[in-house]
Amino acid sequence: MAVSSLNNKSLIVHGPILEYILEENAYPKEHEQLKELREITVKKYEKKSVMNVPVDEAQFLSMLLKIMNAKKTMEIGVFTGYSLLATALALPDDGQITAIDLDIEAYETGLPFIQKAGVEHKINFIQSDAFVVLNDLINGEEKSSFDFIFVDAQKEDYMKFHEKVMELVKMGGIIAYDNTLWLGSVAYKQHEYEKHSEMPESVWRNRDYVIQFNSFLASNPQIESSLLSIGDGLTLCRRLY
Ligand code: SAH
Ligand code: CA
Repeated sequence: MAVSSLNNKSLIVHGPILEYILEENAYPKEHEQLKELREITVKKYEKKSVMNVPVDEAQFLSMLLKIMNAKKTMEIGVFTGYSLLATALALPDDGQITAIDLDIEAYETGLPFIQKAGVEHKINFIQSDAFVVLNDLINGEEKSSFDFIFVDAQKEDYMKFHEKVMELVKMGGIIAYDNTLWLGSVAYKQHEYEKHSEMPESVWRNRDYVIQFNSFLASNPQIESSLLSIGDGLTLCRRLY
């Protein structure tokens, strides 16, 4: 299947560089079940399938989790589970992922591939609004206990998520926020909207949330952060205190 017909295009790095990264590096080593999960997502969800992280980003996350020796992680916003399966494959056999999404149907679309890959036992999927679960965990015994938290739900709530997940990630642990370049729109000037008419109005509207959030992170002394131009932008934050 040609790259262009699949869902894992970077929205930021364009053209031949991205083709090179995907064709020569990322696709050849994509895990069989990740590939199957990605293909079923495209078939069932068509355009919405771009919500899955692209293959190069998933491979980066996988390597990061292994370098960190992450064992206890969380994912907020699962959809069909591409990043979730990549995480489950990267964790040791006794690793645990708390995975939260309101949409169980999407999760169940990807679940057969998670099972086939033999990693379902690492996943605790909770069908819920993430804030309910985050508050429960904070009030329970889970403060400062997560090695890694991947935040990939609605962008207008990232600031509120940050407040919660900072309580749950351990000192030195990592929070990763996805889509922080928001199709590149964060770099455009407000008056240049017409020049970017290819961008859906909804993207343009939400761009302000992402811009505000990025500037909040950049000047926040409680974390060390790095904004990566992979996928649709990925910001890594390391909790300092
Ligand atoms: N991380 C996935 C993609 C997630 S897409 C991957 O890369 O493969 C975003 C998901 O966030 C959607 O499935 C949506 O249902 C979920 N979501 C949005 N707001 C949420 C909330 N408040 N609580 C739980 N899930 C939410
Ligand atoms: Ca995403």
